Amino acid sequence: MDQYRVFGNPIAQSKSPFIHQQFAQQSQLRLNYERELVPVDKFESAVNNLVANQGKGANVTAPFKEQAFVLCDQLSERAKLAGAVNTLSFVNGTIIGDTTDGVGLVSDLLRHQIQLHEGKILLLGAGGAAKGVVQALLAQAPKSLTIANRTLSKAQAITKQYPNSNINAVTFTDTEHQTFDVIINATSAGLTGASLPISDQTIKNALACYDMVYGKTPTAFLQQATSLGVKQVVDGLGMLVGQAAASFQLWTGINPDVEPVLASLRAELT
Ligand code: NDP
Repeated sequence: MDQYRVFGNPIAQSKSPFIHQQFAQQSQLRLNYERELVPVDKFESAVNNLVANQGKGANVTAPFKEQAFVLCDQLSERAKLAGAVNTLSFVNGTIIGDTTDGVGLVSDLLRHQIQLHEGKILLLGAGGAAKGVVQALLAQAPKSLTIANRTLSKAQAITKQYPNSNINAVTFTDTEHQTFDVIINATSAGLTGASLPISDQTIKNALACYDMVYGKTPTAFLQQATSLGVKQVVDGLGMLVGQAAASFQLWTGINPDVEPVLASLRAELT
């Protein structure tokens, strides 16, 4: 049977095996997809081992996305821009790397009818998650894309990758008194419950607020947006399923239905 893995450390929390098994069932495909906890210095051997044992593909999560990027023989254009890989495909002895986080995010935003085209987008954070989605956001032709980060130089490093786009890097303080249509949180502040230094007024003016983090309770950012009356407030569960769907399509050529999978994950969370 074709073998698939999600490599990470830690990995016990990963919902990817559940999601891919659901996609396989829908598509009437027989495949085996499992989590694998990889010691931080053993990523390459974990990949080689999978290739040697009927491996067809793998997802890669923290902290291995940059290592995966270096290991690949071939990279998609979007993976080159992101500098990170979350999907490996093994084809005739070649390791091909891609990143599906961006299409996962954009497909979820569009599913919620959050308009990106001609919109003013504020992306909070400049870590791996932010880097992975910039190309896909720009592909929607927004009016502007502003990246705000605590460490400004990291946001500036991302904007340099896109010299001919309407993209700019700022500090959180710079976002005060500015108006954005869509605000996307790609910082890890949501994981710790820390609130972000974004003014109430900036949040209040937004039509939609999206947090890549998801969980049983809304993040501090989403709670703030809800209490300020923002019309659309969405967490990142749909992005998770969307990026998995795009990986599944890369491996099998089949575009799975995300809705039933998302509904069962949501039911599990509530
Ligand atoms: P990184 O560690 O690469 O980056 C963390 C980012 O958060 C940096 O920009 C950092 O700023 C910022 N940050 C951390 N704490 C604070 C704080 N207290 N105040 C302000 N900024 C802060 O993480 P990733 O980019 O890989 O992941 C970010 C989040 O996105 C994670 O929570 C992850 O779970 C989520 N994610 C969700 C996905 C989904 O499918 N839904 C997919 C991928 C990621 P600085 O640069 O100044 O340190």
